[in-house]
Amino acid sequence: MFESLSERLGGVFDRLTKAGALSEADVVSALREVRTALLEADVSLPVVRDFVKRVQDKATGSAVTKSVTPGQMVVKIVHDELIRVLAGEGEPDALKIDNPPATILMVGLQGSGKTTTTAKLAKRLKEKNGKRVLMASLDTNRPAAMEQLGILGTQIGVDTLPIVKGETAVQIARRAKTQAAMGGYDVLFLDTAGRLHIDEVLMDEVQAVRDLAAPRETLLVVDGLTGQDAVNVAREFDGKVGISGVVLTRMDGDGRGGAALSMRAITGKPIRFVGLGEKMDAIYSFDAERVAGRILG
Ligand code: GDP
Repeated sequence: MFESLSERLGGVFDRLTKAGALSEADVVSALREVRTALLEADVSLPVVRDFVKRVQDKATGSAVTKSVTPGQMVVKIVHDELIRVLAGEGEPDALKIDNPPATILMVGLQGSGKTTTTAKLAKRLKEKNGKRVLMASLDTNRPAAMEQLGILGTQIGVDTLPIVKGETAVQIARRAKTQAAMGGYDVLFLDTAGRLHIDEVLMDEVQAVRDLAAPRETLLVVDGLTGQDAVNVAREFDGKVGISGVVLTRMDGDGRGGAALSMRAITGKPIRFVGLGEKMDAIYSFDAERVAGRILG
């Protein structure tokens, strides 16, 4: 994640910090390179424009160019702007799982990593937070997906709702809610059906499940490798069902990281977790400061 962007920016800032005195023209020229690096990382154009403008406004003042270490001041401004772009304003990063049983609705396109992420989060809540977790698959179109959740559940030692053939997604959600309450679970994950593309039937179903389930969180799982498409999918899902946050998967395979940088600015929704591999432990809380530090090396 971010390796190529980090390398590019590292080169630009190395030159800036080594330069000693800086003119405004030096800063402008460095920011031109930053702009190119961000665009190559597949960060969306409006986000890049706004980012570069904000840095430029702050970095071309005399306080910077006349300071003893102007290069370092520019890097600090970029660092702070990265954190702003990644995190926005005061979002809690922990999942809301008070007042048990708390329902977490998992939504996303087919193949985005939804089922894997559901199991990863369930394992994390069980092991890190000592929560009793129940998972239920609502993917009535794909029996294999329902079975897959059961297999993962067994692997990580988390209960799954038994499969009853012929039920609709809403019926499964209702049964899961009852089971979660009766069984004394703290958290219920509802793994909704995915489609290859956003379509109305899918959205209607997710909305019906959401209305019944009254989830504490609705997490959208998107494939980080799809870059700006991931951001578009997030915008659509948020408009149609309302999401509380995003999980970006397959970031282990994306050295550019553009989706991570555009997500918050374009959708207004925070990235809550990042998937960095297929293993059940390969999920990480998204921490803007750590990520900004990583990008700047
Ligand atoms: P779903 O259709 O959205 O439920 O997708 P799945 O959970 O079945 O995942 C599809 C494939 O992506 C599986 O082979 C997963 O192992 C893989 N996958 C999920 N998350 C990640 C991730 O963060 N990194 C990598 N490399 N693979 C992932």
